[in-house]
Amino acid sequence: MTIQISKNITSRLMTWFEDHRRVMPWRGSKDPYHIWVSEMMLQQTQVAIVEKYYPKWIAHFPDVFSLAEAPLDDVLKVWEGLGYYTRARNFHKGAQYIVALAESRDDPFPKTYDTWLHVPGVGPYTAAAVSSIAFGYPAGVVDANVMRVMARLFCIEKNIATQLYRREVFSLMNRGFYDHHPGWVNQAWMELGSLQCTSNPDCARCPLKEHCCAHRQTKVSSYPIKTVKKTIPTRRSATFIIYQDRRYLMVQRRPEGFLGGLWECPGYTLKQASADKNHFISFIRKNHIKIEKKHPKPVLHSYSHFHQIMDVYFASLEGKWKNKDWGGMRWVNKEELEKLPRSRICIKLFDSIK
Ligand code: SF4
Repeated sequence: MTIQISKNITSRLMTWFEDHRRVMPWRGSKDPYHIWVSEMMLQQTQVAIVEKYYPKWIAHFPDVFSLAEAPLDDVLKVWEGLGYYTRARNFHKGAQYIVALAESRDDPFPKTYDTWLHVPGVGPYTAAAVSSIAFGYPAGVVDANVMRVMARLFCIEKNIATQLYRREVFSLMNRGFYDHHPGWVNQAWMELGSLQCTSNPDCARCPLKEHCCAHRQTKVSSYPIKTVKKTIPTRRSATFIIYQDRRYLMVQRRPEGFLGGLWECPGYTLKQASADKNHFISFIRKNHIKIEKKHPKPVLHSYSHFHQIMDVYFASLEGKWKNKDWGGMRWVNKEELEKLPRSRICIKLFDSIK
């Protein structure tokens, strides 16, 4: 049997949304750039955190042209602390792509879901969000919240981590806008997932409880179907604070890949959880590092795919820094250090030695 979002479901959802929607700095805007900024930030990040970063970003880069023309270092600096830095690099590339193809300065943006998909760094989620909210294009925004709601509402037995499931929800949503503005309907589904249909929902308060298959069958906790989460590994790393002539030695990660383009103290990370003495010795020998002392407390940090325990050493150099594993190096004073875009763990590191 084909499942369908009925007109009644959409209209109940929209009535609920009218009463419950949260105020957000970007909500209600029809400016594609503003919507794009918020959607790039909201991926993997909570609304409360994005609310702090969004105004700062708009103040620095008020439109797509200012973003496209900015050096990548400035972009990473303003993004600093939001994590998942690939988003910032892609956003920068995406802005340059749009500006390069813009037919006019007043109206540079693509309008449809498919044309947004051509913009570097823009995937189905962002393409649907920007085209539907800014231009009313009927494309469903399929985020984790929406996927959870749909699995419960229709008792969908597919694993939500699969493309097949994502495609099914996309097609379901695309047929469920009726005469409402697609952008508002998408936001309503996401809001229902964030505020009502949470991991442990109070279904008695839900506007869709009479339509909800999982609720009717008292099987809410059985949906969505997920793969068992892998345990997150722990990695050990060592970092060297090399401070000479009132300057720190900072190195820049290569532009592509994990934390690409960010600045950090020289060091290394091992795949295993325990420190490897041999690796430590060969690293300091190869780089002419002389250890002064070890910081008593390691710095701890967690990413989505691993936990990190970082041992910290105060050190000096016995020769010149010649390591070519990084994309760049600089000696910086404290003021210059603050201006460099750095990863969260690097910021934590300097906070720990204050
Ligand atoms: S009734 Fe419960 S499970 Fe069903 S959509 Fe509402 S909150 Fe989610």
